[in-house]
Amino acid sequence: MPTTIDGRKVSKDIKNEIVQKVDALKAEGKRVPHLAIIIVGDDGPSHTYVKGKINACKEVGFEYTLLHFANSLAEAKLIKQIDKLNEDEDIDGFIVQLPLPDHISVEHVNERINPGKDVDGFTNQNFGSITSTHHLLLPATPFGVMELLKRYEIETKGKECVVVGASRLVGAPVSMMMLQDGLATVTVCHEHTKDLAKHTSQADILIVAVGKPNLITKDMVKKGVVIIDVGTSRVEDKTKKSGFRLSGDVDYENVAPLASYITPVPGGVGPMTIASLLVNTLKAYEAREI
Ligand code: NAP
Repeated sequence: MPTTIDGRKVSKDIKNEIVQKVDALKAEGKRVPHLAIIIVGDDGPSHTYVKGKINACKEVGFEYTLLHFANSLAEAKLIKQIDKLNEDEDIDGFIVQLPLPDHISVEHVNERINPGKDVDGFTNQNFGSITSTHHLLLPATPFGVMELLKRYEIETKGKECVVVGASRLVGAPVSMMMLQDGLATVTVCHEHTKDLAKHTSQADILIVAVGKPNLITKDMVKKGVVIIDVGTSRVEDKTKKSGFRLSGDVDYENVAPLASYITPVPGGVGPMTIASLLVNTLKAYEAREI
């Protein structure tokens, strides 16, 4: 049977490390890191994610500020709010929770954020810095994936890594990180890839970030593969109080017996995204305090 990569445990370890640093700051009489979160509209899952981020701030002793705006908020007003946070000396980092309403351009928003406070790692500057040795705030979910591989001491150097999904949020940055820091040979697949199984079956390390439950089946992987399943979709489940359960992109039940390591969904990459956000907020704080 494979080793389950326990994102909840790793994220807890990271939070404990941060708590120690926050306690040390307090003992020295210094202020603590301060994260602000902007959320626009009433999308249920987004509010759940934001709640998780606020709870994480509470757990590690960060200050936090939540700014909730109506769905009708004009883009110009949101930009003004971002400018305020960019200039606010008390705020070390902030995020604008996605998705945004259709009338607001995510690109305009991201490019307005001061890269030094961009703790989601979404701005062009932080995205581009993946290929540099001087990166400060790496994109949160890809950073979480790399941290899982590192903490489970999974060798990446020289391995065949196949990334399925090429989005700016996950697939593209994680493939760049696997190339840059992981020193792997990287193949990136997407919707237009002609024969997905031909590529996935070559993978020593398979990272999937698509959002299609059961996309990866047992005939598409080789024995001993390391699988990182980033996909998170809501699937109807009448046995649950909520009426749904979360599913990854991998047919876990049938694929797991072939894997050497695998992340579950939930409990794999998800908790790492929040842990990475905390790590980035601490880094942003430290960069400002020095
Ligand atoms: P996205 O922007 O929709 O991108 C999906 C990517 O998958 C695209 O590159 C798309 O190809 C590719 N794709 C679509 N159908 C495919 C297929 N049949 N075969 C191969 N590739 C295919 O999604 P995202 O933001 O990257 O998120 C991906 C998944 O990760 C979602 O389930 C999301 O909820 C999850 N996620 C989880 C976390 C976490 O913390 N756990 C964080 C972020 C995202 P094209 O480029 O050709 O369109």
